[in-house]
Amino acid sequence: MRFKWFQNKLTFVIIPEANESVMRLKLSRASVCAAALSFLILLGTAVCVYVAHVRAVVTTQMTESRQQAHTSRLEQDLNNKNKAIEQLQKEIFQLSRQAVEVRSKVEEMKKLERELKKLSSMNDGPSSEAAAVSADWPAMELVQGGMGGPAHPVTAQQVRTLARETHASYDSLRQEISELKDRWVQSKQTILEQREQAQRRPGLWPTGSRTVTSPFGYRKDPFTDKLSFHRGIDIAGKLNDPVLAAAKGTAVTVGYDKFHGHNVVVEHGNGLRTWYMHLNEALVKQGDGVERGQEIGKIGSTGRSTGPHLHYEILHNGKSIDPKPYLPGS
Ligand SMILES: [Zn+2]
Repeated sequence: MRFKWFQNKLTFVIIPEANESVMRLKLSRASVCAAALSFLILLGTAVCVYVAHVRAVVTTQMTESRQQAHTSRLEQDLNNKNKAIEQLQKEIFQLSRQAVEVRSKVEEMKKLERELKKLSSMNDGPSSEAAAVSADWPAMELVQGGMGGPAHPVTAQQVRTLARETHASYDSLRQEISELKDRWVQSKQTILEQREQAQRRPGLWPTGSRTVTSPFGYRKDPFTDKLSFHRGIDIAGKLNDPVLAAAKGTAVTVGYDKFHGHNVVVEHGNGLRTWYMHLNEALVKQGDGVERGQEIGKIGSTGRSTGPHLHYEILHNGKSIDPKPYLPGS
């Protein structure tokens, strides 16, 4: 029954223009179904091919877009890195200029150090090495002003060389500044010691008076009229005039006896002592530290004395020496 349905014919009538005859086309139903099926398969295939094509186009566009974005990011990165390299090159150049300026300052400091050493009469001058460096690096100051010359862009190798040289220069400067600091600390110590020694060297008149009534050396003894040796100098003064320590030191003896009267001995170091005799009174105790110019007693006439005066004596390694070279202006 079904087979018979496929066998039945279908007639298609084609009516052309009015003066032409009508065409009749007889086809079996199977043929019509086959043709329709073929058409549908063809249509489906075309649709599939079109969809695949559209998808491929879209995918390609998306891929290109991603690649473009990626390329753009890479270009941006490259641009940023180039800027960073350029900035680093500028900084290396700036550092190299600063190294030259710091070097110049260090040389000025060395020059100042030499002048200070000369002023403080120090014997140990700068090392020959430092002097040689000074000759190689004259003091220089960079200032803003006109510049010119042909452009020669630096190569990567030149930048590396400049960075290496700048690094070496800073290493060298760090070392030199460290040595300079050590020398200055040593110089400061030496100057403090020199000042301390100067403070401890008798160099003041021990009285306000400059009138010497009896100098150091042989003389007629004021009590016996016989020749004797005077181990110090006698300086005239009024009773209770101040007696000053001639230098910084320590009062090692503060006492009284019938020959020296009230007397004070000050130890100054370097084998030097000063002795102040016939005081009306002493103003320091044994063991006291005394400063240069400090009042340590008052003029008197105690002990073997004919009247108010100060007997001033300087001892070097226990032996009396002439105080005159230690009295300014005498
Ligand atoms: Zn005397």
